[in-house]
Amino acid sequence: MAIDGPSGAGKSTLARMAAGRFGLIHVDTGALYRCVGLYALRRGVSSKDAAGVTSLLPEIDIGMRHGGDGVQRMFINGGDVTDDIRLPETSLCASDVSALPSVRAFLLDMQKEMANKYDIIMDGRDIGTVVMPGAGLKVFLTAPPEIRAERRYRELLGKAVDTTFEEVLRDMELRDRNDSSREAAPLTTAGDAVVVDTARIGLEDSFDLLCSIISERFGL
Ligand code: C5P
Repeated sequence: MAIDGPSGAGKSTLARMAAGRFGLIHVDTGALYRCVGLYALRRGVSSKDAAGVTSLLPEIDIGMRHGGDGVQRMFINGGDVTDDIRLPETSLCASDVSALPSVRAFLLDMQKEMANKYDIIMDGRDIGTVVMPGAGLKVFLTAPPEIRAERRYRELLGKAVDTTFEEVLRDMELRDRNDSSREAAPLTTAGDAVVVDTARIGLEDSFDLLCSIISERFGL
């Protein structure tokens, strides 16, 4: 099944919880774009430089492993980058590189292969529209930018990242704009998606709602 939506809507957290409940493999596809963004950053290549980023792709071997705690650990050429890909500077680079058709093509095969191989719950921006257009269930999670930014701000504070709410909101609005306006696989609601607005409901209630949508759809 596919979960799409803007950043901070709760996709990855809810998808991870649902994977645990229903025995599915969870894949957070944003982490793949973050790996490419981080690699460009580390190599000193601007994330807006299409030719530069494209030339790096053959050097990037992205690995993914699920720990016992359900956390999806990410590796670039064998090195663990699970924490580094979450830093705010990496978020913007990820958003930039995700607009490049070469990067999307590079990551699409990997995502399709995983989708074919496992009982999967995949979250991202284009899962229901491009990666798994035939998914048995598509959910589009959303909430207003201020609420999503507040959640992300608290998450970053918990990881002792030095930032402000205003900075997080600005970055989020910029990423929303980039993700929705790009030509390649923009963030958009699939016509057959169930739209869930998490603005007024907390995590537990959102999870209960998601579980009931899944149970109903698949007769579980
Ligand atoms: O979901 P997350 O915020 O970690 O994703 C990081 C960036 O990767 C997003 O801003 C978005 O630009 C990009 N992305 C994408 N398509 C996906 C998942 C993420 O373009 N399926």
